Amino acid sequence: MSDSIDYSFDRQHLWHPYSNLEQPAQVFGVVSGDACLLTLADGRQLIDGTSSWWSCVHGYSHPQIVAAMQSQLQQLSHVMFGGLTHEPAIRLGKQLLAMTSPQLTKIFYSDSGSVAVEVAMKMAMQYWHGRGHSHKQQMLTLKHGYHGDTFAAMSVCDPDNGMHNLFNHALSPQCFGPAPRTPFTQALTPEDISALETLFAKNHHQLAACIIEPIMQGAGAMFFYSPEYLKLLRRLCSQYDVLLILDEIATGFGRTGKLFAYQHADIEADILCLGKALTGGHISLAATLCSDEIARGISQSSTSVFMHGPTFMANPLACAAASASLAILETGDWQQQVANIEQQLQQQLAQAAHFSAVKEVRVLGAVGVIEMHSAVNTSLLQPRFVELGVWVRPFGHFIYIMPPYTISSAQLTQLTQAMTTVAQELSRQALPADTPCNG
Ligand SMILES: *Cc1c(COP(=O)(O)O)cnc(C)c1O
Repeated sequence: MSDSIDYSFDRQHLWHPYSNLEQPAQVFGVVSGDACLLTLADGRQLIDGTSSWWSCVHGYSHPQIVAAMQSQLQQLSHVMFGGLTHEPAIRLGKQLLAMTSPQLTKIFYSDSGSVAVEVAMKMAMQYWHGRGHSHKQQMLTLKHGYHGDTFAAMSVCDPDNGMHNLFNHALSPQCFGPAPRTPFTQALTPEDISALETLFAKNHHQLAACIIEPIMQGAGAMFFYSPEYLKLLRRLCSQYDVLLILDEIATGFGRTGKLFAYQHADIEADILCLGKALTGGHISLAATLCSDEIARGISQSSTSVFMHGPTFMANPLACAAASASLAILETGDWQQQVANIEQQLQQQLAQAAHFSAVKEVRVLGAVGVIEMHSAVNTSLLQPRFVELGVWVRPFGHFIYIMPPYTISSAQLTQLTQAMTTVAQELSRQALPADTPCNG
């Protein structure tokens, strides 16, 4: 590559997500992002199919968000939240309460999704302390789940594919249920029902909360499950005195076709985690919302205060970005955009289901997934996608996209063509060597 990026420094000194610094995988220098296009250091432009890990929902450098951040930057980019408050935090808080369910009234701001999950788990545990049930400290969660990379979050990630083997001794033992099997459009299977009922009946005495990703199991499965499953979970949580923590970090703000995925099931959370798309992907911010009841329980615990307070809590610059991003969502345009993306993904990805290496094609809202029979090699496929002019980053068994909602129909076509091209190429290689093939 002929550009001005010091790749050699990067290779020697900079960790990338889940990377090996002894054998660093190829990285691409990027210099700017505008709407749905990323410009690489060598001048190539790529159509973005990732929304930068599902966050940049209105596209890069959105003028309204950039303007809000610039104006906030000139006034106050950061100040401590202990003993001080500010308009960006208050404005954003009002917007969040107006768009989520009415029983959620209290907001805790933090820096990242994993921390929002830590905070949610702490809230649930401290709540039961306050209510005089200190034995209720365990979490119920589901296999194939993903809730972040910090220690408490890791403890509720999938125990087989996650990081449990490596960190086993440092992780709190949690209660795992089987992954939901009933697909989004189907009626709940008896297996899914009885698995949940048994789990609650057996374990409810020690359970503080049930934590799950509503409707879409993201990083661990890329699977959309039945809203009836969520309804049943909500019913069992209420029946057995277990709090329900919904991790909407991946699904929140329109991704699955509803503003929040729990709205597919018409249920309410006791505690709600938000992150990723909260600032339209322009800067890191997360939030954990809870009900009056949770806040009251926490106030009755031995410390009487909630025991968490990050240095950069409610960072004004991030709050201003989030506020601007939510204002764009408030226009409602996302609904038509996501519906159009869903329809186009369904039409254009369907053919991939017939390729030999493909197990299943799934679409919900602005998420399109081609699940392969075997795990893909990200460092081989990544450059191929760049060659095809798109930024798509497959992982595990999944070639998937979650494009910005503002993507044009022509750009989306280019993304789906690249996905089906690569899935087909993998299918041809999967054929036995002596089978004639016409490619
Ligand atoms: C990405 C993600 C997280 C972790 O968020 P970070 O900002 O990466 O810490 C937690 N839960 C879900 C469902 C996620 O998709």
